[in-house]
Amino acid sequence: MSQSSVEKVLIIGSGPAGWTAAVYAARANLNPVAYIGFAKQDPGPVLPGGQLMLTTEVENYPGFPKGVTGPELMQHFQEQAERFGTRVVGEEITRCEFSSDPAKDPHRLHTSEGVVVRAHAVILATGAVANWIGLPNEMRLARSGGGVSACAVCDGALPGFRNKPLAVVGGGDTAMEEATYLTKFGSTVYVIHRRDSLRASKIMQERFLGRPNAKVLWNKQVVDVLGDQMIEGVTLEDTVTKERSRLDVGGLFVAIGHTPATKFLADSGVELDGSGYIALKQRSSYTNLPGVFAAGDVADSHYRQAVTAAGMGCIAALDAERWLAAVGVD
Ligand code: NAP
Repeated sequence: MSQSSVEKVLIIGSGPAGWTAAVYAARANLNPVAYIGFAKQDPGPVLPGGQLMLTTEVENYPGFPKGVTGPELMQHFQEQAERFGTRVVGEEITRCEFSSDPAKDPHRLHTSEGVVVRAHAVILATGAVANWIGLPNEMRLARSGGGVSACAVCDGALPGFRNKPLAVVGGGDTAMEEATYLTKFGSTVYVIHRRDSLRASKIMQERFLGRPNAKVLWNKQVVDVLGDQMIEGVTLEDTVTKERSRLDVGGLFVAIGHTPATKFLADSGVELDGSGYIALKQRSSYTNLPGVFAAGDVADSHYRQAVTAAGMGCIAALDAERWLAAVGVD
C-alpha cells in the first residue's frame, strides 16, 4: 500500500460486520480495502474472522439450515467480499488520526508495518472479545469444541449439553441471562460466583433463581477445567476458605464480561460510551466524527450476535456510500 494512495472506504476488522460492510461497499464500486489483523497465538482483539473463529457449530445464522462451523462461515464471508473486489490486508491498524474534513483531507491510519494509509471513509468493525478466566484447559477445550463456551445463546442448545449439569461463571446480567437460558437444556445449572452477592439486576436474578434446576455456588472460583476431549468437571476454590472441591459438569459457560477492541482508537476523538463501546447516533452507523462509521460488537454491547453484526455492517456501508456521495467523493 503506497503512502500516497487514498482509499474511498477502509474497513478495520473481519468479523461478520467487517465482511458484510466489505460486500456492500465493493458492490457499490467503492473499491474497499479491509485490514483484518493477523493471527496470533492467543485470541486478541484483532483475531481475523472475529469471535466466530472460536465457535464450533453455528446453528442460528439464517441460511444454514444444517448449521455451519464458525470458521467455515467466516471463510464464506471473506470469499463473498473478495469476489466483488475487496482487497484484504493482513495487518493491524494501530493508530488513527481522524480528520475534521476527510473529503478534502483524508483520515490517516497507521498500520502495524509502520505505513500510513489515507482514507475518506473508515468503518470500524473490530468487535469485542469475550473475557476468559485465563486457564490453559479452559482455552484448550474452548478452541476444540470440548464443551467450554463464552456464549450460551450461541452454543447452549447443542445436543451435547442436553440433560447434563452445566455451569456458568459470573455474577452479572449476562451470567443470569445465559444461566436462565440454559435451564431449558441442563439438568442442573450452577452459577459459580466469586463473591456472596450477585452484581446482576434483581429482576434477572429472580428470573434465574425461580427455575427449579437453578443453583448458585457462592464464593467460588474455577481454578481448573477437567477433561481430555470433552469437559468432565471443574475444580473450584472457595474464595474465603481456599478449600478446593470438584464439580462434575458437562458444559462450562464463561460470562464474565466482554472487552470491546478499541485500544487503537485511543486519543482518536471517537466517542465511546460508559462501557468503552463506540457510541453511535441512533439507528445509524455514524460516530461523532465525519467519515467515521462503526458496526458490530465494537459498537453493540447488547445483542452481540453474528447476524446483528452483519446487519450493522450493511448499515455502515450504506451510510458510508451516502456520505461519500454527499461530500462529493466519487
Ligand atoms: P458485568 O456486569 O461486568 O459482570 C461481570 C461478572 O463477572 C461480575 O459478576 C464479575 O464479578 C464477574 N467476573 C469478572 N471477572 C471475573 C473473573 N476473572 N473470574 C470470575 N468472575 C469474574 O458484565 P455482564 O454481565 O456481561 O454485563 C455487561 C453489561 O451488559 C452490564 O451493564 C449489564 O447490565 C448489561 N446486560 C444487560 C442485560 C439485560 O438487561 N438483558 C443482559 C446482559 C448484559 P464481580 O461481581 O465480583 O465483579
